[in-house]
Amino acid sequence: MNQSSGMERQPRRRSLTAKQAGLTLLIALVLSILAGTIELALDARAMQREIVNETRVRLDLVHGTAAEAAFQLNPELAEQVVNGLFQGGPVASVAIRDDFQRAMAERQRETEPTANRFAQALFGDILHYRKTLYYQAGTHATPQPIGELSLSLAIDSLAYDFSQRSLLIFSLGVVKALAIAALLALVFHWFVTRPLLKVHAAIAATDPHHPGRWPKPAMGRHVNDELGHLVASVDQLLQAFQRGLDQRDQLHQISTIDGLTGIANRRHFDTFLHQEWQRAQRSDHAISVSFIDIDHFKEFNDHYGHVAGDDTLRAIAEALTRVVHRASDLVARYGGEEFVCVLPGTDLEGAELVAERIQKEIRDLDIAHEHSTRSGRVTASFGVASSKPAHGGSSCEALLAQADGQLYRAKRQGRDQVAVQN
Ligand code: GH3
Ligand code: MG
Ligand code: MG
Repeated sequence: MNQSSGMERQPRRRSLTAKQAGLTLLIALVLSILAGTIELALDARAMQREIVNETRVRLDLVHGTAAEAAFQLNPELAEQVVNGLFQGGPVASVAIRDDFQRAMAERQRETEPTANRFAQALFGDILHYRKTLYYQAGTHATPQPIGELSLSLAIDSLAYDFSQRSLLIFSLGVVKALAIAALLALVFHWFVTRPLLKVHAAIAATDPHHPGRWPKPAMGRHVNDELGHLVASVDQLLQAFQRGLDQRDQLHQISTIDGLTGIANRRHFDTFLHQEWQRAQRSDHAISVSFIDIDHFKEFNDHYGHVAGDDTLRAIAEALTRVVHRASDLVARYGGEEFVCVLPGTDLEGAELVAERIQKEIRDLDIAHEHSTRSGRVTASFGVASSKPAHGGSSCEALLAQADGQLYRAKRQGRDQVAVQN
């Protein structure tokens, strides 16, 4: 993560499950509102029919008694019928009149029913009922009109009933929508988000240095679907990355290691020396360099052959690494039969000691060299120099030149010895 962007606002993490649940809820709500509206329209028609039928049945039920009251001009009976109708439902007014249109009994609500335009549109047409009262003197006599029963329904009560039914329908719709959204979110989370999170966790846990060893998740029943394919593709990609890294490492190895001896090559030595010089400069440490050159190696090759010469170079490289084994040090083949040691943090005295140990280690190899002017064994000469870059040490090139000069001195003085800068 970029440290400089610490002040910037991090984008808020959003959950796929939460997004999906929100979206499903929205869709379910829209659908339930649409379905609720249609259901309500149908329900309004059914309610109208119910009201009309119910009112007619009620009027039919009281018709006989009302007709009798009108025939007998019996106001008490008429009153009973009117009261019964008035109390039995959402009625605004009810009246029984004789055939001269005189009211025999009449009741009406104290407050005038009021309603909005919507209620008017819904119930305006089914509010008023009139029923002519007939009296039949005998079984075969023609029924004679003797009065009228009139009834008006209270539109505000009807509107209230309708609003209650609407509320119920919409509430049920919302509950259904919530249940569908919750169920879908759960199913979606289980089948999609959860495996995706598993893949994400595996990718996040991948070591960028070893992408090929990523904890590839087992996809179970998703192996053959898109999620399984996603994991397979990620795996292919990471394996390709790994191959690239391996090739890079191999190339790096080839470019820094000497093929014959397996120790660092000249290129690696150059880079290492520059880095360590700068480090010594920063941390005010000494840095020492030793050149090691095998004595009379040309004669060795001429006498024992190049294969034996190569074996000797390898044996000496091994001897060097046995002595110089600190992680901070470097042993490299400088070229031909010349080797070099870089000893960061080691002063001249320490470097001289290391050179003497190497000298002893090479002697202990006890490799015959009949044509050597020394001892009849393979020996080497050493040129040691040290510097403190922070205290006037001019450059690493100058340090190398000093060590080389000392090597030259060791050769001149008869070989098989360590020459140290004064
Ligand atoms: P001095 O004591 O002055 O160092 O004499 P020298 O013969 O060792 O030095 P010179 O530089 O004259 O010869 C170096 C020889 O090292 C030349 C070559 O035969 C041998 N040599 C260089 N590189 C290799 C190599 O990779 N394998 C083998 N077998 N021999 C090598
Ligand atoms: Mg040489
Ligand atoms: Mg030599």
